[in-house]
Amino acid sequence: MSVSELSSVVFPHLHHVRIDRVSSAGRSVRIEASTHLVHALCPNCGLASKRVHNRYRRRIGDTATGSRETLIHLRVRLFFCLNAACEKQIFAEQVPGVTVGHGRHSPGLGAVLTALALALGVRALTCPHSCPARCPCCG
Ligand SMILES: [Zn+2]
Repeated sequence: MSVSELSSVVFPHLHHVRIDRVSSAGRSVRIEASTHLVHALCPNCGLASKRVHNRYRRRIGDTATGSRETLIHLRVRLFFCLNAACEKQIFAEQVPGVTVGHGRHSPGLGAVLTALALALGVRALTCPHSCPARCPCCG
């Protein structure tokens, strides 16, 4: 199995980015990546743009790799919207499966956190003692 094939198995949601480097940093796995999409769609009007305004790095929490925290250091671009009638003059590209507007974690990690919050909320609501997690009835 090649590194590319391994990457597609372990990180299937990262197929829209180019993985530049994977390293271990303490208890974290750090993935340095960049986008390789030719254009981005304006989130306001939907028009595609290739005109880059600037680049910057985003740090995005992702689902665990093994039992280790995963951080994606993603280099993304800001684009000019080419639609003169659009209210958005500049917008940040979003990478499907990796970023959401102004989000600091991937959609996958967001789903895990939501499920965890719901489970803990249900547990708190169903405990007759209104106690923290150490209650014998709740485990
Ligand atoms: Zn636009």
